[in-house]
Amino acid sequence: MKACIVCGKGFSPKNRKGVYCSAACRQRDYRVKRAAEYAEYKRWKAGGVVGEEDTAVDRFKARGGAVSGGGVGKSREEIMAEIRAIRAEKIPPERDTPLGRRVWKYEQDKRVAELEALLNS
Ligand SMILES: [Zn+2]
Repeated sequence: MKACIVCGKGFSPKNRKGVYCSAACRQRDYRVKRAAEYAEYKRWKAGGVVGEEDTAVDRFKARGGAVSGGGVGKSREEIMAEIRAIRAEKIPPERDTPLGRRVWKYEQDKRVAELEALLNS
């Protein structure tokens, strides 16, 4: 038995990675996360703190959100801070599997490479 990460109800997951008791809870969690990311993204657009929010923007973009002007006109220090932030990110528990870790590492490397390209431009 495992506790659903959304409603806390006990359930028997179909596979080891299962964290939701039902499709409804998975859907709910996805919507909440998406709304939270969008809120962070709006804060970032409005000139909020750079760092965490940039990561949120990347996640937002990765899920198909449209972003214009992101990454343009960032200072060297901001880019360096962003690279450090990406390196410091911890893998979410639901992705912490042998394959998940490989994909996670690949995504991190790709984001860092993109930022490094900005540094060298
Ligand atoms: Zn649930």
